[in-house]
Amino acid sequence: MKTISQRAKEWEAADFIKEEKIVALLAAAKNVSRDETANIVDKARQAKGLTLAETAALLQVTDPELLAGIFAAAKEVKERIYGRRVVLFAPLYVSDYCINNCRYCGYQKNNKFKRRKLTRDELIDEVKLLESMGHKRLALETGEHPAECPIEYVLDCIDTIYGIKFENGSIRRINVNIAATIIDDYRRLKAAEIGTYILFQETYHRETYIKMHPEGPKADYDWHTTAHDRAMLGGIDDVGLGVLFGLYDYKFEVLALLQHAGHLEERFGVGPHTISVPRLRPAQGVDLSTYPYLVSDEDFAKIVAILRLAVPYTGLILSTRETPGFRDRLMDYGISQVSAASSTGVGGYMEKQKSSTAEEPSMQFAVEDTRSMDEVMTSICASGYLPSFCTACYRQGRTGDRFMPLAKTGQIQNVCQPNAILTFKEYLIDYASPEMRQLGEKVISEHLQQIADPKILALTKERLQEIELGERDLYF
Ligand code: SAM
Repeated sequence: MKTISQRAKEWEAADFIKEEKIVALLAAAKNVSRDETANIVDKARQAKGLTLAETAALLQVTDPELLAGIFAAAKEVKERIYGRRVVLFAPLYVSDYCINNCRYCGYQKNNKFKRRKLTRDELIDEVKLLESMGHKRLALETGEHPAECPIEYVLDCIDTIYGIKFENGSIRRINVNIAATIIDDYRRLKAAEIGTYILFQETYHRETYIKMHPEGPKADYDWHTTAHDRAMLGGIDDVGLGVLFGLYDYKFEVLALLQHAGHLEERFGVGPHTISVPRLRPAQGVDLSTYPYLVSDEDFAKIVAILRLAVPYTGLILSTRETPGFRDRLMDYGISQVSAASSTGVGGYMEKQKSSTAEEPSMQFAVEDTRSMDEVMTSICASGYLPSFCTACYRQGRTGDRFMPLAKTGQIQNVCQPNAILTFKEYLIDYASPEMRQLGEKVISEHLQQIADPKILALTKERLQEIELGERDLYF
C-alpha cells in the first residue's frame, strides 16, 4: 500500500527531543537562587522569550512571591502583544473510527460503542448549526482510520464546509487536527486551504509515550513527533503543537515542547503558530486515578504563564476541558484562543439541539465548560476582553515567516484590533441576544479607543457602518 511504503521512506528520528538535556536542565534549575530567578522574570517582561535554562528555572519556582511575579509578567506580556483580544473557535468531530489504542482517549480502539462518521448531509447540518452560533473558525477533528477516514474524506469535508453559506454565516478558516501522515497528504491539505495543521504530541517522554500508545500507527514515537516536519516539507507553514498535560511530569513536557518549537524554527525558519494546552479529562475506559502526573490548577496556570513568557508570539489555545472561571483566569496569563460551546462527539451539535431524550454521541472526553455561546461571550466581555472571530491572517497570506516579523514589530496590532472589532460587530448583529448586543456595543466603543493610528481608526469606523448596512467579511 502506497501509504505504508511512503511512511517507511519518510521516517525520521525525532532526535531533536533531548531527554538527557531536559533532565540536566531541570536538575541545575533547582540550584538557581531567588535573585537569579527574579532577574529571569524581569527579563521575561521584555517579551523577548526565554532560553531553556531560564524556562527550567521558572518551572522550578514554588515561592508564592516569585510565582505572583511570573503571573504578573505573563499578564503584562500578554497585554502588550495581544491586547485584550481573544479569538474564538469550535471543534468539529467528523469521524470517531480509530485504529489506535491510546490509553487516555475515549476513541481508543478497544472501547465498544457505535462508531460513525458524518455523511455529507449530516456535515452540512452540523456546520449550519455552528454558523448559526456565530462561529467562523473550526478545528476539524478525526480519529485515525485509513479505511473509514482516508485523506480523501477529510478533503471532501473541508471542501464541503468552505462551501456552506448559511444566512450571513460562513466558515472562513478550518484548522485541521488529524493523525500524523505522509508529506503528500500534507500537500493536499495545504492545497485545500487549511489554516493551521495541529497535532498534539500527548507526551514527549518516550517511555511514557510507548506505554500510552500500545497499538496502531500512533505507537511510533518518531513517526508522530516528526509529523510537523513533514507538514512543513509539504508546504504547510502554519503548524500547532500541544501536550496532553497529565500523562507525564509537566516540567519535562514544557521543556520538550520548547525543544520541538526550537527545532522547527531552526529547520524551517519559523516556529509553531500555536501551542495547545489540553489537560487530561475523564473519558470512556479511562481511570484518572491511575495517572500519577495529573496537573493541579495552580501548576496548570503556571504552565500557561511560563509558556507565554518563553514564546511570547506563539498563540496559546485553551479548550472547554477547563471550567468557566478558570478559563477567564488563564486568559489573563496568556491564552489567546478559546473554544466555545463545544461538542467533542461526532454529530454532537445536532444532538444537543434535539430533545434531551436523544442518545448522546460518544464523546472523546468530558468537557467542563458547557455554557452557550451567548454565555461565553458575555463572560469574555465582562472580564474586559474583546471576542474576535478574525480569520484574516492566513487569507491575507500573513502566515509562517511572513507572520512573525509583523508580530514582532508590533505591526500586527494595527490589523488585529480592528479585525477583532469588525468580526465582533458581525457577531453582535447576526447572532447575539439583545442583552449581549448592548454589552458588546459598549465593549466595541471602549476598544476602538485603543487603535492608535488615526487613519486605521477612521477606516474601522467606516467599515463598522458598512457592517450595520449589511456588508460582511471586511478585514485589514
Ligand atoms: N487522531 C488525531 C491524533 O491522533 O492525534 C487527533 C486527535 S484528537 C481528535 C484531539 C486530542 O484530544 C488528542 O490529541 C488528545 O490530546 C486529546 N485527548 C484525547 N483524550 C483525551 C482525554 N481523555 N482528555 C483530554 N484530552 C484528550
